[in-house]
Amino acid sequence: MNRYSNKDLLAFDKEHIWHPYTSMTNPLPVYEVVKADGCTITLKDGTKLIDGMASWWSAIHGYNNPVLNDAVKSQLNDFSHVMFGGLTHKPAVELSSLLVKITPKPLEKVFLSDSGSVSVEVAIKMALQYHHAKGKPEKHKLLTIRNGYHGDTFAAMSVCDPVTGMHGLFEGALQKNYFADAPKIKFHEKWDESDIESFKFLIESHNNELAAVILEPIVQGAGGMRFYSPEYLKTVRKLCDKHDVLLICDEIATGFGRAGELFASEFAGISPDIMCLGKALTGGYMTLAATITTKDIAETISKSGGVFMHGPTFMGNPLACSTAIASINLLLSFNWKENIKRINDLIVKKFNALKGHSKIADIRSLGAIGVIEMKENVDVGEIQKKFIKNGVWVRPFGKLIYIMPPYVITDEELDFLLDGMIATID
Ligand code: PMP
Repeated sequence: MNRYSNKDLLAFDKEHIWHPYTSMTNPLPVYEVVKADGCTITLKDGTKLIDGMASWWSAIHGYNNPVLNDAVKSQLNDFSHVMFGGLTHKPAVELSSLLVKITPKPLEKVFLSDSGSVSVEVAIKMALQYHHAKGKPEKHKLLTIRNGYHGDTFAAMSVCDPVTGMHGLFEGALQKNYFADAPKIKFHEKWDESDIESFKFLIESHNNELAAVILEPIVQGAGGMRFYSPEYLKTVRKLCDKHDVLLICDEIATGFGRAGELFASEFAGISPDIMCLGKALTGGYMTLAATITTKDIAETISKSGGVFMHGPTFMGNPLACSTAIASINLLLSFNWKENIKRINDLIVKKFNALKGHSKIADIRSLGAIGVIEMKENVDVGEIQKKFIKNGVWVRPFGKLIYIMPPYVITDEELDFLLDGMIATID
């Protein structure tokens, strides 16, 4: 790539490379990164940006982290990949044992895969195979809640919000699932049973055909950045048990402390039957996901010679597993909870000054997540130019301008990030 000037590189990029959710003929601008270190992203022209996105919830320890770098290098010296069919290795075993230890009981059977969306496909497949093995193949539909987001592959898309998701575009190709109203009662608000009526009605009327409920626990991310009551999740757990429907918690965005608990399911004191992890699993270094389930589900699928029907080429990639072990151990080696509280306190303090702002509809935060919901949709291309001018990397969508910075962000960097965000909105 050295032979490309920045201008040539961007021209080639524009002509030939698809970026996430963009047009090939009228793409939004992209900026060339030459270095990322700690919480700072450096662009080709020397501009330094304080990162508010942690590369979509993943880079919790910041960029170019020496501990994670060492983990990659040391594994690279041994081997970078071997097939997982018929072979195993210490990185996969150590990581899985760590995941069994830190996730809520009774989760204990780990399936490693490539990305968040794939881990959701795997979870759905597990739920379907479980009921199939129990002689109930008719239980093959899913129930979820509106405003959800679970990924871009087909089964995952079929449980994304039917309005903001891609259902319209892929009508006919997506399995029809059931959608309960999104929880209205917010995280800190007083609980009222009426909030879960729509969910209750659907699970009661369709339990004969339902394999599983899938939802993002407490934090609905890409579907609206909303934080809902733990009581909702507690009640979901009870209703799933009552109706022999499995509960899949998609902790891909919330896992590893982002919302203030190691896993957001813990706010409700529940354990799902299947949990999906991704994103921050490797500290944002490379792609890896895990789907973790119970002994009962794994044994039911496996009875009478049954096998679980999935096996990606890069399953259990040793480089990714080694990095994940280092990332989790690093997270657990300091008082991460206190650190998330520090980030939240600063967000709340700065956000308080925005109350009553004429362009803002709502301001909210939970853990290391801060959200400003505007009254109008933002023009991403235009506002991004302004963010960059103000020295911050923030990537809004729809009406939402939000941050979820790397946990290593200092008070000074976070102040700068929040000031840059606020100045841009003003
Ligand atoms: N589930 C949730 C809750 C997510 O936030 C995402 C990614 N934004 C996914 C699933 C999909 O993960 P991936 O992009 O790694 O496929």
